Amino acid sequence: MNKSKAVFLDRDGVINPLVYNPATQAYESPHDPGDFAVFPHVKESLELLKLSGYIIIVVSNQPSFAKGKTTLENIKEIGRLLNEFSNENGGLIDDFYYCYHHPQGIVPEYTTVRRCRKPGTLFLEQAVSKYDLDKGMCWFVGDSDTDIICGKAMGFRTVKISNEQTQESQSKNGAVAPDLPDVFAPDLLKAAKEIINRENE
Ligand SMILES: [Mg+2]
Ligand SMILES: [Zn+2]
Repeated sequence: MNKSKAVFLDRDGVINPLVYNPATQAYESPHDPGDFAVFPHVKESLELLKLSGYIIIVVSNQPSFAKGKTTLENIKEIGRLLNEFSNENGGLIDDFYYCYHHPQGIVPEYTTVRRCRKPGTLFLEQAVSKYDLDKGMCWFVGDSDTDIICGKAMGFRTVKISNEQTQESQSKNGAVAPDLPDVFAPDLLKAAKEIINRENE
């Protein structure tokens, strides 16, 4: 039997908009469930990918509790909202992997260097084994250079979501050295269409 294929998705900036934080003057992950919204094109994007046979897996760094910016309850509630969106639309997302660690946090039990934090590849390795994935058929879609580095380290092809908001967030983050993605796309819908177009390349 043929191995499976998957599209791995970063969450913030890909599935949901970043949120402007006046305190840091930067676009950041939502810290409050009330600030979480799924982009309108996500349902169609994931439906297209699933019709083409892709397993959909979200891999997200969520260090804001470790950094003292919000509560663990808030972060988990936002995760639950995304799970609910997926379920209400027929199970669009097959699996979720969240890393709550940060190397420079202020909450001791979450302040540590771990391979589950992207660009660490622990979660991707776990998913490849769990779903028996063909890495050459997998993609990683993200808006940060760490996503691209992470996907490439696994031998996946990569799409970088690049638009005004994600670029601003990236420059404020003090971006790491750019690692070129296979494709640039302004949003997940364009990314999904590119992935399907390149299926047999
Ligand atoms: Mg992101
Ligand atoms: Zn972690």
